[in-house]
Amino acid sequence: METIIGIDLGTTNSEVAIIRDGRAVVLPDEDGDPILPSVVGLDPEGKLLVGRAARNQFVLAPERTVRSIKRKMGEETTVKLGEKAYTPQEISAIILRTLKQRAEKALGHPVQKAVITVPAFFSEGQRAATREAGELAGLEVVRIINEPTAAVLTYDPHPPEMERLLVYDLGGGTFDVSIAQVEGGVVEILASHGDTHLGGDDFDQRLLDHVCDRFMKKNGIDLRDTLVAKSRVLRAVEDAKKALSFEVVASIEEEFIAEKNGVPLHLKMEIERSEYEALIDPLLAKTLTCLDQSLSDAKLQATQISKVVLVGGATRTPLVHRLLQDRLGRPVHAEIEPDLAVAMGAAVQGGLIAGVDVGAVLVDITPHTLGIETLGILNGLTSTHVFSGIIERNTPLPASRTNMYGTVSDGQKIIHFHVFQGEHEDTRYNVEVGDFKIEGLADVEAGNEVMVRFDLDLNGILKVTATERLTGLARHVVIDNAMERFRTKQRTDAIDRLEAIFETTGDAGAGQASLPSPAQPAETLAPGLQHAVDAANGLIAKAERILAEGANAEDAAELQGLLTDLRSAVASRSEDAIRKVSAEVEDLVFYLEDQ
Ligand code: AMP
Repeated sequence: METIIGIDLGTTNSEVAIIRDGRAVVLPDEDGDPILPSVVGLDPEGKLLVGRAARNQFVLAPERTVRSIKRKMGEETTVKLGEKAYTPQEISAIILRTLKQRAEKALGHPVQKAVITVPAFFSEGQRAATREAGELAGLEVVRIINEPTAAVLTYDPHPPEMERLLVYDLGGGTFDVSIAQVEGGVVEILASHGDTHLGGDDFDQRLLDHVCDRFMKKNGIDLRDTLVAKSRVLRAVEDAKKALSFEVVASIEEEFIAEKNGVPLHLKMEIERSEYEALIDPLLAKTLTCLDQSLSDAKLQATQISKVVLVGGATRTPLVHRLLQDRLGRPVHAEIEPDLAVAMGAAVQGGLIAGVDVGAVLVDITPHTLGIETLGILNGLTSTHVFSGIIERNTPLPASRTNMYGTVSDGQKIIHFHVFQGEHEDTRYNVEVGDFKIEGLADVEAGNEVMVRFDLDLNGILKVTATERLTGLARHVVIDNAMERFRTKQRTDAIDRLEAIFETTGDAGAGQASLPSPAQPAETLAPGLQHAVDAANGLIAKAERILAEGANAEDAAELQGLLTDLRSAVASRSEDAIRKVSAEVEDLVFYLEDQ
């Protein structure tokens, strides 16, 4: 069967993908890198450079380097590369030809046909220019498709029922949000909005200003005044920004960055994720305005969206996930590498045209959230069983994530970590997959910061490392095949655990085994009320289990209603109300358990 390659011809980066054994795969270069920077240049001898080599020389030789040519597609213009002038189509053709060659090398035979993606907002002229670039590269462009359409195709092009997906695409320089409807292999874009000047590069700029301002305050020198110093800081902040997607703190270190009265100055700074998030929050707020606009254009409510698909490198930012989840009330899909999704979708489209049997793009993901038990608030009350997720479910493997926690009491020397897997906010509903202790912590006040890092590999082996920030003291545990263990032990363990809740009076007395999410207030209740609340919490957990196991619709609705009342009673702190509603819930639970 003929091969139709899929190409994402991006402003910053480009990729090529094919269908192999019914799955879309992005083809890497000889160094294993799937991403080709969309940069073309000439070296000092006039030899053509494409990709990383061209990008690396940009700062030193801008006159011999062309980047972001996509922004000029469709314009009657030329760009200079050394002595000669080239049209945007010609420069794009060089990138496309490089990708074509990459595919031919991987496949071992020539390739003639391609599907190429373009932004949804591209005009006919820009699309025609893209087609022409493909032809100049020796490719027959069998179809030009929109980038959001391609991203959607990676998630089951033939869903069992009509689906509406929201594609949130935040790249280096542009932002787009589209609402797509998918049915029977056909994707229709219902609405699209965006900002052609908003992206990860703006985040870099905010962080650069923040770092330079702090440096100036301390040393009286503005690093933005010298081109070399500025470009060094820019590179360093981009690295820090990327690190902050997975770590809670990132450090920036650039030696001999400036000089004052003959003395060299070094840049050494720590940036916390929360600090960085405050800088970019106003920019992300703009993306939410576009999102609202798209929903209103498509005449849809957030609840009518079945999936949220992330595209573009900048969507790795955890704040993006949080804001979207809050606004749309559902988890975002980050299973597919956000910078590879468009090329993979283009390959799926190529496969559909060629008549190849392709399904949804499959990747290895974590089936459940992994995290630790902490002290926090459950149903309005302080509890030592609050689940704090560190690696969220559906994260592609391998994955590494870090969160920060604080000790509970002054002079706390030991923390006993309990590692859990599951989706419930109450760890008693999840499964413990391992535990370990870190001992000999510094003798300081409560709130001593400890970073907890989870590294989960492709085989499901989880390494958990706790590091005291103050001293660097670290301990770790390796948990073998945590995912497998969950699948088999999940039900029995969770049920046993819940039963056990009813044997005890609830949360009291768990000691210093847990960690707080910082700044969560504790609350002390009168013993009678505390007892009623504990019993009510246990009852709520039990009722939720019954609902999860599946009761008939009428009973489930009645139980849901009573649970709402019980939660309100708990929140009101009225012992009488809690006991009254608890009795009603208990009766129904008793009846349903007997069914
Ligand atoms: P794209 O145009 O899709 O290739 O996206 C490029 C943008 O994504 C650049 O601004 C990158 O700095 C940014 N980016 C790449 N990886 C990450 C990451 N791990 N966290 C945050 N931003 C990232």
